[in-house]
Amino acid sequence: MAERAAIAEALRLLCARIPTERVFTDKTILEHYARDETPDLSYTPDIVVMPISTQEVSEIVKICAHLKIPLTPRGKGTGVAGGALPIDGGIVLSFERMNKIIEIDPKNLIAIVEPGVITREIDNAAKQFGLMYPPDPSSLDSCSIGGNVAVGAGGPRAVKYGTTRDYVIGLECVCANGEIIALGGKYVKNATGYGLIPLLVGSEGTLALITKIVLRLLPRPTASLAMLIPFDDIGLALTAAEKIIMAKIIPAAIEFMEEDALRLVKEYFFLEMPFPTAQAHLLIEIDGSSEDELLRQAQEIVSLSTIHESNVIIAMTEQEKDRIWKTRRLIREAISKKSPIFLAEDTVVPRASIQRFILQLKNEFKKQKLTSLMFGHAGDGNVHVDVLKGDMPIEQWRLLLPSLKEIIYQIAVECGGTISGEHGIGFIKRDYLPTAMDNHAIELMRAIKRAFDPLGILNPNKVI
Ligand SMILES: Cc1cc2nc3c(=O)[nH]c(=O)nc-3n(C[C@H](O)[C@H](O)[C@H](O)COP(=O)(O)OP(=O)(O)OC[C@H]3O[C@@H](n4cnc5c(N)ncnc54)[C@H](O)[C@@H]3O)c2cc1C
Repeated sequence: MAERAAIAEALRLLCARIPTERVFTDKTILEHYARDETPDLSYTPDIVVMPISTQEVSEIVKICAHLKIPLTPRGKGTGVAGGALPIDGGIVLSFERMNKIIEIDPKNLIAIVEPGVITREIDNAAKQFGLMYPPDPSSLDSCSIGGNVAVGAGGPRAVKYGTTRDYVIGLECVCANGEIIALGGKYVKNATGYGLIPLLVGSEGTLALITKIVLRLLPRPTASLAMLIPFDDIGLALTAAEKIIMAKIIPAAIEFMEEDALRLVKEYFFLEMPFPTAQAHLLIEIDGSSEDELLRQAQEIVSLSTIHESNVIIAMTEQEKDRIWKTRRLIREAISKKSPIFLAEDTVVPRASIQRFILQLKNEFKKQKLTSLMFGHAGDGNVHVDVLKGDMPIEQWRLLLPSLKEIIYQIAVECGGTISGEHGIGFIKRDYLPTAMDNHAIELMRAIKRAFDPLGILNPNKVI
């Protein structure tokens, strides 16, 4: 915990350097920044500050370094690993006002953005030039690109296009002593020294603060379609996903949705899928340059799924596609309406092990009489495992959580996978890092942290 006298001094220094209308100590505001989208977690900051320039970020970091006050960077607070929460209080630095798209450069296929830009806006801006920014976390209408870069966010389209990590080619950062560094640039190849950019992507605000991002863009596919395929049981849906991958078809997305998850979307958002008796669905998006080519691929996918084509919905228009995708994107919100407290894991396993992983977990949860919901990115092995608290008393739930996490992580690792595919380690998985990493690797990470942040002021208690 930061000492009261240090906080008071920090407030005095901040107000001398940053316009006071962007420095907050009001209780209501502090309480808002005490939470992100992680259920049952709240840590209140002492001060919230909203810089509008890299220079201001640098000033704020210098104050924190001088007074040894914890500094927690925050994008839009949609993180689900508690990464943006100030565990020891101190200052939350919100990037929400640094939200400009600085440039879309169609000659170099590049975007330069500030960290607070909403992810969808980058793709929308790229679209005007016939380009696209592919990473598409399901939260893309509410999360920020800075948060995406900080955790290495993924999304449904990772199957074909990879994750945020694959698009960052330049960063401007403020280091823990307030120094500003520029890494990379508008060039797409870079073999100059150690790869600091890939190290900072996914560092969850523990090594440096990201103040500007250079992103690679791709030519936008001119045709795309979405397919909704119903199955009588989960096993059949996952087998179909495996067969599609084995047939070397690489759709843009292959999403898997259990029936119970869709039932919640219907209950809370009145959106119903056309096959209400199906036990599981695959939502597949394919894209390319001609509709004929896509329809041929769709045909192949239908026959690999061993489903009669009259039972498959093929959405060609934007409106039809949006409707199906909306249902998928609302699953997490529907779960949180049903049970505001729930465990949400984003384990990842080799694609060919998804079935074993899910069925083993389902058995485990059934034995413990727990309600679980599975959905997510079947195409890249990143399975969302959600376990609902439901009516269980909160004390019992909190006691149960560590053993639940251990079971999920253990089975993921036994299946050849790891404990986070896209949400990051943040606060809630920190104690479980040894399940997935060698001690020596963790020691190397600690040494890296010390090299970047010797005073340990940047997002303490996260990752390691
Ligand atoms: C409904 C829903 C769906 C989701 N779907 C997906 C999904 O499909 N894929 C996925 O990957 N995630 C998903 N998420 C999780 C979340 O949206 C992502 O982790 C996202 O990247 C967080 O961005 P943010 O701007 O909200 O960051 P925050 O939550 O504010 O912060 C996340 C982390 O980044 C750090 N940080 C933020 N900005 C900076 C910066 N400029 N410099 C340094 N560190 C910084 C914070 O300290 C924190 O550790 C989902 C969340 C919800 C609620």
